[in-house]
Amino acid sequence: MAKLYYDHDADLSMLKGKKIAVMGYGSQGHAQAQNLKDSGLDVVVGLRKGSKSWDQALADGLEVTTVAEAAAQADVIQILVPDEVQGTVYQQEIAENLKEGDILVFSHGFNIVYSQIVPPENIDVILVAPKSPGHLLRRMYQQGMGVPGLLAVHQDYSGKAKDYALAYAKGIGCTRAGVIETTFKEETETDLFGEQTVLCGGVSHLIMAGFETLVEAGYQPEIAYFECLHELKLIVDLMYEGGISMMRYSVSDTAQWGDMTVGPRIINEATKQEMKKVLAEIQSGKFAKEWILENRAGRPMFNSLAKKGKEHPIEKVGAELRKMMPWLQK
Ligand code: NAD
Ligand code: MG
Ligand code: MG
Ligand code: MG
Ligand code: MG
Ligand code: MG
Repeated sequence: MAKLYYDHDADLSMLKGKKIAVMGYGSQGHAQAQNLKDSGLDVVVGLRKGSKSWDQALADGLEVTTVAEAAAQADVIQILVPDEVQGTVYQQEIAENLKEGDILVFSHGFNIVYSQIVPPENIDVILVAPKSPGHLLRRMYQQGMGVPGLLAVHQDYSGKAKDYALAYAKGIGCTRAGVIETTFKEETETDLFGEQTVLCGGVSHLIMAGFETLVEAGYQPEIAYFECLHELKLIVDLMYEGGISMMRYSVSDTAQWGDMTVGPRIINEATKQEMKKVLAEIQSGKFAKEWILENRAGRPMFNSLAKKGKEHPIEKVGAELRKMMPWLQK
């Protein structure tokens, strides 16, 4: 079983007297910066001049400056800009502002694992990754709770890197729920695998295949949308609350029988063989290399696939049907 750490395992005072720079003020940045500040720590947010988030961070009561200036001031540097730009931001604005004994923090290991960032040897490099979007991390913290998190140590110059990671996790509220120790490699490879094969890639293509099958057989797209996409939330919510067994308990026995007997024909041995290939490409760095090159080329494939996705009939019919459900509009 994984080792879990809680509030009593972490000493927040290790970060007292240290300046923490949070680079970026998006989903994770806004939540982590505000939670750290509310935990009594000294936080500065690093952003680009002219960034829309600049005024928001000021309005939230935070100190804001450029990434380079924040890096120069800080002893702890948390990089929460998008993974695809972290390498450039690090090389152009952070690297020359690191001093011996600084602590570099990540919430995803991609740039370390695939060597897009190669930190100097005289600093600590740690990972503290909340297992939730930033907005939930912030909301739970404000309610006196926390979301579970992961921690890992890539480089332990101080000899206290893990304690710093625990203190940081406490500062953002994750040790209230529990933090699991992992490695940069495990966090990164499993994150990529999960989003590609199950959470994003697997689910979106399962939905589209089901929808297309019904529509091609002459059923109304509106009905196909409800059966293959809309109702998924109810099923996922049940699994989120109580696992696959609770979902099977809650649906009809007819649905459960179909789940158990037909499911293995849809997600079969061939699917699993392909999953193993995908995992091997993540482990070898093949996936990362392609994604890095795609970004360098200005994302031609990314943009064309995204456009094609938006034009899929399920998106057109969905946009109409969601008008029937005004509570979905935010
Ligand atoms: P995001 O896209 O929501 O926010 C990125 C922020 O960086 C924005 O404030 C943007 O203005 C800023 N930014 C972009 N380019 C910049 C530049 N060149 N210089 C300075 N600032 C710049 O990103 P996010 O989802 O919060 O992800 C941040 C990190 O957290 C990533 O490593 C991601 O993998 C990780 N993470 C995200 C989640 C999540 O649910 N969103 C969960 C766990 C870990
Ligand atoms: Mg996106
Ligand atoms: Mg993930
Ligand atoms: Mg991910
Ligand atoms: Mg049904
Ligand atoms: Mg049942």
